[in-house]
Amino acid sequence: MEKLELLYEGKAKRVYTTSDQDKYIVSYKDSATAFNGEKKGEIAGKGEVNNIMSNRICQLLEKSGIKTHFIQELNERETLVKAVSIVPLEVIIRNVAAGSFSKRFGVAEGTVLKQPTLEFCLKDDALGDPMINTSQVLALDIATPRELEKIAYIATRVNEILSEYFNTIGVKLIDFKIEVGRLNGDIILADEISPDTCRFWDKATGKKLDKDRFRQNLGEVEEVYQEMLNRVTRH
Ligand code: UDP
Repeated sequence: MEKLELLYEGKAKRVYTTSDQDKYIVSYKDSATAFNGEKKGEIAGKGEVNNIMSNRICQLLEKSGIKTHFIQELNERETLVKAVSIVPLEVIIRNVAAGSFSKRFGVAEGTVLKQPTLEFCLKDDALGDPMINTSQVLALDIATPRELEKIAYIATRVNEILSEYFNTIGVKLIDFKIEVGRLNGDIILADEISPDTCRFWDKATGKKLDKDRFRQNLGEVEEVYQEMLNRVTRH
């Protein structure tokens, strides 16, 4: 399968059309941004880590009955995926307080939540991806009630499956963001699941193994991306 036209270029990926209108090629970049694009940089090797890791995770989720966009890894940076229409929501699940949650609610980072939270942000860079509640999602016709139910189910299952999986490789899944897309009347998991979109803390030491090292200038950024890839590909 060959790349035809560049359909979309985002902060971390390019999406290309192919000769099959039902399939796209996603190409992962090393560019990194944080704080709604205010901080920019490069993380050497990130494209490969995020591509390979996302693909492994999609395969794991598929085995547990979660439908994903994954079709085939083409090379270290590129993957063939099902062409979906992305629902413009960032779907966030949290197990432990961190990042914007800690800031917004004044809860110390690391506080274990009594139950996982589910939140939505509207995917709109110009507006800074504002938080949006389910009533607003329905009022703005961003998703139907049935779709919202499916999205909540997918997010919850992904959290259960991945929390257990990462635990086996010595990693605590603190929080993560997923995106979903519409395909033939169904909702499936799309986009990536990687150190760019999850918070991972080492189970033994609490060391941050994700994009927070870039956001907070903690150093060893490339190293922890490689470390996560190593752990995922070893298991
Ligand atoms: N996240 C993401 N993309 C975004 C915003 C958040 O992938 O545009 C992920 C982030 O990596 C974290 C989770 O969603 O794992 C929750 O992020 P949070 O709301 O705390 O935002 P942040 O602190 O990144 O601004």
